[in-house]
Amino acid sequence: MDAPITQDVLTIPRKLPEEGKRNLVGLTRPQLLEALVAIGTPERQAKMRVGQIWQWIYHWGAQDFEAMTNLAKGYRADLARHFQISRPEIVTRQISEDGTRKYLLRIAGGHEVEAVYIPEENRGTLCISSQVGCTLTCSFCHTGTQKLVRNLTAAEIVGQVLVARDDLGEWPVPGAPKDETRLVSNVVLMGMGEPLYNFDNVRDAMKVVMDGEGLSISRRRITLSTSGVVPEIARTAQEIGCLLAISFHATTDEVRDKLVPINKRWNIQTLLDALREYPRISNSERITFEYVMLKDVNDSDADARRLVKLIAGIPAKINLIPFNEWPGAPYQRSDWARIEAFSDIVHKAGYASPIRTPRGEDIMAACGQLKSATERGRQRAADIAAQAGL
Ligand code: SAH
Ligand code: SF4
Repeated sequence: MDAPITQDVLTIPRKLPEEGKRNLVGLTRPQLLEALVAIGTPERQAKMRVGQIWQWIYHWGAQDFEAMTNLAKGYRADLARHFQISRPEIVTRQISEDGTRKYLLRIAGGHEVEAVYIPEENRGTLCISSQVGCTLTCSFCHTGTQKLVRNLTAAEIVGQVLVARDDLGEWPVPGAPKDETRLVSNVVLMGMGEPLYNFDNVRDAMKVVMDGEGLSISRRRITLSTSGVVPEIARTAQEIGCLLAISFHATTDEVRDKLVPINKRWNIQTLLDALREYPRISNSERITFEYVMLKDVNDSDADARRLVKLIAGIPAKINLIPFNEWPGAPYQRSDWARIEAFSDIVHKAGYASPIRTPRGEDIMAACGQLKSATERGRQRAADIAAQAGL
């Protein structure tokens, strides 16, 4: 944690949200059409206008209507009177030694969420949040210690992708040769919150992100991670169709009840039954099983063997996540040799079992470490008050 951290002031020009004007970001195409008609756009033109505005917002990254030069001046003024194109505001941006960028973003109501950009050799993954805090209380997760404040809107979910592209300077330049390399090539819903407890907004946001005329991130480059909200899993397949990751983390109900308490509602067997249906319904590839390695809790050879037995028949990949510590965490990371032994057993059973290298640890950007700074501040104040007997 002593590594030097770059925390810089941003110089990107950005517009702050304007009160009372509807934000066009995050609207689905039908919603955008309705919004345009409602301000008097003739119905027979509206579909074409949707296409034009969509391209400006999601292909070119436009932040105001003035830039939309293929629309008549008067119409641009109409749009500006009623609407805005706004994103969450970047409060801080920290850049880790390994290039990982963590954004603390402010959204309406003064709430804060985090998004993390992880550059890799041949791809760049943006990890986004779906809620402020989380209602679930997984005992190894830092976010789980923060109470749910609210669901993010579709605009705030899509907005995280726009902000990252702004910051990385990734919008195309008109007239410049097309650059096929993408900085934000993948999106994972693995930040703060349980995406399947905010289903409609997550679905609408992903529809926008996947749209081929705009951000165009394909459904196979989007991974939604859930702790196991069983009734929404089939809907995820049908209505989003992205890749699925499951926070599995244990091989007996007894241990999973403690680590991922939603297991008391939908146990391992019920969850696995839902997962067996997933690839068939969504036409997607393997399901990722996330398994956090906790010393002496879930990391034995017997656990590894039970795991492969449980998932037999499901096209799967097992992501082993060395536990990322956070202040006051009740667990320790398994020893490296133990993680490798576990991985070997899973691998020999025929499953890919990569060990996820923790990224951005120096800036607390790794999995499960996210928790907004104001919340941390509040928590610290509460701890101090408790110690002082207040
Ligand atoms: N709520 C969703 C998505 C967010 S959590 C879910 O639980 O799946 C993203 C991943 O990070 C999950 O697999 C979660 O179990 C894991 N995680 C949480 N805290 C962690 C920690 N301290 N160390 C390592 N992984 C953690
Ligand atoms: Fe919520 Fe996921 Fe953390 Fe569990 S692991 S508390 S579901 S964010």
